[in-house]
Amino acid sequence: MAVEQKNVTVMETVENNPLHLEWTPLEQNLRIYAKEHHVPIIVDEGLAFLEQIIRISRPKKILEIGTAIGYSAIRMQKVCNSEVVTIERNHTMVEQAIQNVSSANVSSKITIIEQDALEAFEQVKDYTFDLIFIDAAKAQYTKFFEMYTPLLSSHGIVVTDNMSFHGLVHEEDLKDQSRSVRGLIRKLSNYHKFLLNHASYDTSIFEIGDGIAVSVKKE
Ligand code: SAH
Ligand code: MG
Repeated sequence: MAVEQKNVTVMETVENNPLHLEWTPLEQNLRIYAKEHHVPIIVDEGLAFLEQIIRISRPKKILEIGTAIGYSAIRMQKVCNSEVVTIERNHTMVEQAIQNVSSANVSSKITIIEQDALEAFEQVKDYTFDLIFIDAAKAQYTKFFEMYTPLLSSHGIVVTDNMSFHGLVHEEDLKDQSRSVRGLIRKLSNYHKFLLNHASYDTSIFEIGDGIAVSVKKE
């Protein structure tokens, strides 16, 4: 009986906050804002996974594709004081991200580039990145990967978010979906194959958060 009692206590502790995430008041406000305004920021489980990858690999320089309001950039930056370069094409998002990064006191560590990521290579081509976080338009994932991985350091890591497309990628019967959604799913499926078959990267795709791919450069 005493043992059972103890187990229950352990379970309860674990269930309370197994991801062990903590947020500053600013970050809490960003989460609330994102929810209210349907900004697709990274979900908690995905964030915890991404932050552990950063803790393990200690990247000096991180490239993010898809800033939105700066939530993931601010979180990634502070894990081990990395420099972050992040690209966002939406002007309103960029304005908010600049404000949020400033409020977080990390303007000197996070560079925000307002441009379509498909046209921003020139701006970052002189950098070397240790980690690239792809989190923008899903239909362009393969293009982002091909465009920016030449800037990756040896044994660098590419993390891609939203690989599951909320589970739709695994649905056999897609005929109920709209044409554009089906097109998007096809492109995302092709990206899955592209990553898993890539000769220069070891990729695993995890059912964590909204689906996260981790690709490690072989050399
Ligand atoms: N990384 C953020 C969420 C990004 S949401 C976080 O987790 O906090 C995806 C963002 O990518 C959106 O703000 C969208 O405007 C941007 N985006 C989509 N396609 C893009 C492109 N081709 N170039 C730059 N930004 C893009
Ligand atoms: Mg995402």
